[in-house]
Amino acid sequence: MSRVKTMRAIVLEKPGEPLRLKEVPIPSPGPGQVLLKVAACGICRTDLHILDGELPNPKLPLIPGHEIVGRVVELGAGVTRYRIGDRVGVPWLGYTDGTCRYCRSGKENLCENARFTGYTIDGGYAEYTVADVRYAFPIPDGYSDANAAPLLCAGLIGYRAYWMAGDEVERIGMYGFGAAAHIIAQVAVHQGKKVYAFTRPGDREKQEFARQLGAVWAGDSTVLPPEPLDAAIIFAPVGPLVPAALRAVDKGGTVVCAGIHMSEIPAFPYDILWEERRIVSVANLTRRDGEEFMAIAREFPIETHVTEFPLDRANKAIAELRAGRIKGAAVLIP
Ligand SMILES: [Zn+2]
Ligand SMILES: [Zn+2]
Repeated sequence: MSRVKTMRAIVLEKPGEPLRLKEVPIPSPGPGQVLLKVAACGICRTDLHILDGELPNPKLPLIPGHEIVGRVVELGAGVTRYRIGDRVGVPWLGYTDGTCRYCRSGKENLCENARFTGYTIDGGYAEYTVADVRYAFPIPDGYSDANAAPLLCAGLIGYRAYWMAGDEVERIGMYGFGAAAHIIAQVAVHQGKKVYAFTRPGDREKQEFARQLGAVWAGDSTVLPPEPLDAAIIFAPVGPLVPAALRAVDKGGTVVCAGIHMSEIPAFPYDILWEERRIVSVANLTRRDGEEFMAIAREFPIETHVTEFPLDRANKAIAELRAGRIKGAAVLIP
């Protein structure tokens, strides 16, 4: 097969430096991998932590991006799961060994030898990328490429956080109403739960957005909700939200920290944890999370709000996201 041998990609050479648009070789799919032509790639807050050097030891130089929607253009050896032309999505978890004690006990999200898309392996801020077919999910019909991209991390990790909050919860709080919360709020409302949205103090626009998506209440993260919550998910990487959320949950309530990085959690009095309140974190995802979440996305149309940027505007998109100016999710279109 003859094809162009190079592609345009956005490359991180060193944390702390701006991203650069470069011409790099198109990767070849190895055994069990496919080559994808990238149609859209979401920008996740985790990407900002990688760019800023807040996550240790990224592959360098690195092509970031782990909310990839693409079409299969080449099959590696032994691939039978997909065919040329199939549309698939690639999430954060890009590889596991399948043999460590975590993989063997259904916790592949904690795999000792896991590799992560757009962090320890190249991701989707590019015209092409390769993916392990075990970690490539079929995308439900009815979503455009750009609208599907945020499902791959904001949706998927958000879903795992929502699942950790527990099935039985009725009143669920979400701190930080960005890409993940705007997706998971719709899932929660669809499942008959009451959603309480907390934003940066004074962010009336995001509060209104949350109400439009079905939240029964939206307000500043500095205030208590009108009634105690059964659980709260913290999507914003802000440590002081942990004691704030503990104060907002009822006895037996769970506070789920959904981010990969958070600023320091301030000391707090034991009585806000007392009565079997719990704080848990969510790390990565499993294939089961992916399958369950994509089934929900197939069951009803999740509305994803996206702002599209061309590949060469990646730095601009990141600046907008950092400033909190993106409603929903930012998506790069190669
Ligand atoms: Zn992410
Ligand atoms: Zn493992």
